[in-house]
Amino acid sequence: MTRPELTPVDAAIIGAGFAGLSAAHALRAGGAKVLLLEAQEQAGGRVKTVQHADGHAYDKGGQFYCRDMTRIYAMVEKFGLTRRDVRKVPGVVAMLGGKRKVLETDFLEHGFFEQIFEADPHRPGSVLDWVLSLGLDAEGVAMIKSGCEEVMGRPIEELSFRSVLDCLSRFESFENTMEYACTEGMGTLAGLMAADLGENFRANAPVTAVDRRGGLFHLTTPGGTVTARKLVYAASPAVLRQIDWKAPQDQWLKALPDQFVAGKMIKIVMRYESAFWLGSDYGWLGQTDNPSGLSVMDASDPAGGMDVLAVFCGGTAAMALAGLTEDQTLARVMDIIEPMLGPKVRHPLTVVQTVWTDHPWVGGGYCTWAKPWDSADPQAPLREAHGGLYFTGAELGPAFTGFIEGALCAGEEIAGRILAAG
Ligand SMILES: Cc1cc2nc3c(=O)[nH]c(=O)nc-3n(C[C@H](O)[C@H](O)[C@H](O)COP(=O)(O)OP(=O)(O)OC[C@H]3O[C@@H](n4cnc5c(N)ncnc54)[C@H](O)[C@@H]3O)c2cc1C
Repeated sequence: MTRPELTPVDAAIIGAGFAGLSAAHALRAGGAKVLLLEAQEQAGGRVKTVQHADGHAYDKGGQFYCRDMTRIYAMVEKFGLTRRDVRKVPGVVAMLGGKRKVLETDFLEHGFFEQIFEADPHRPGSVLDWVLSLGLDAEGVAMIKSGCEEVMGRPIEELSFRSVLDCLSRFESFENTMEYACTEGMGTLAGLMAADLGENFRANAPVTAVDRRGGLFHLTTPGGTVTARKLVYAASPAVLRQIDWKAPQDQWLKALPDQFVAGKMIKIVMRYESAFWLGSDYGWLGQTDNPSGLSVMDASDPAGGMDVLAVFCGGTAAMALAGLTEDQTLARVMDIIEPMLGPKVRHPLTVVQTVWTDHPWVGGGYCTWAKPWDSADPQAPLREAHGGLYFTGAELGPAFTGFIEGALCAGEEIAGRILAAG
């Protein structure tokens, strides 16, 4: 049964990731009547927590933050959740050409971030073109390539240098972004923020079409049509095609997804009886050039009780594992990380595995990249208002672009602009 058409809300928001949640909270605080529509059965988007039968909460997507990410910090406090530290023992193990090497720091800290901001922001070509121009040896190039693929989710020969520099230039700091996690999980925070919106949040409400008539937006959802004076699209540009944009002035949105690529990403969290790697030469990070894009990180609570490794397979690594079953993926990953961590790594108590690649509602992980390599900025139109239609999302974060904090900032910013426009 479809619901009757509702009285128009001041602003409808498509997507209850942290950007949509943040926009909804800020708009409500500013006195606007909002409706936040989420396609999936819960809020969170690229952040999702499972409560496992072992009694622990596991973050399948976005998880870590740091003290400079003041909005997450504040939200975790506000909703009464528990901030925990993430252990970071110095030292990196790198598998290069099949040989194991122990390093003091990883290659992104050494060489990449140090130099990228000195480059011409209009430099044409790919990220790999720029890395090759640095005069590093083959191992240096391989490790930067692998580290970038894990962080960006795409082979760096596919990514425009300009779009990556544009993203990184919005970071407020590069201090340890894995300083904290939330014991109850970041998805729990998203759920609490959604619940706090009461009837202004609706789950299982994918917006399948948007039209404009009589000065209002008309949104088609399975539960009926929603009408709104303003509309905020708070999801990745990669999934814009989930919506049939019917109004003549919105036709440009049909071609827009071609301008973006979403990251390919698999995250595997493994909990152990104890952190058996402590005291060994493995510090906090293991990286490999084969497959490029695979890293394994100590994500444990140093206070005890949660000794976990998080494996991230991005770009080439995610592609190499595509189509395998969970068991096959895990077996392959174990073969890759055992030389870094030793045979005990094969005996986790709990494994939580998530494939984000080509996710129908979020596109992929961790974020979406602008594709063209020319001087046009494909994100520019998304930063403008189009007759009451606004865009937000982690990709448009004025700070910490592509991260949870970026999504929260972007949501807040768009709410401020809507409230100011009246
Ligand atoms: C594996 C992984 C690890 C990560 N690790 C970290 C980390 O440690 N720290 C960090 O800060 N960030 C991390 N990130 C990135 C971070 O999670 C994202 O940048 C951020 O959560 C994106 O938020 P968002 O609101 O912009 O978009 P999304 O989270 O993508 O939210 C968009 C929402 O819109 C909904 N939606 C889409 N289309 C429609 C429609 N037509 N109708 C209704 N709803 C729709 C989607 O279902 C989704 O819920 C990670 C991401 C991944 C995938």
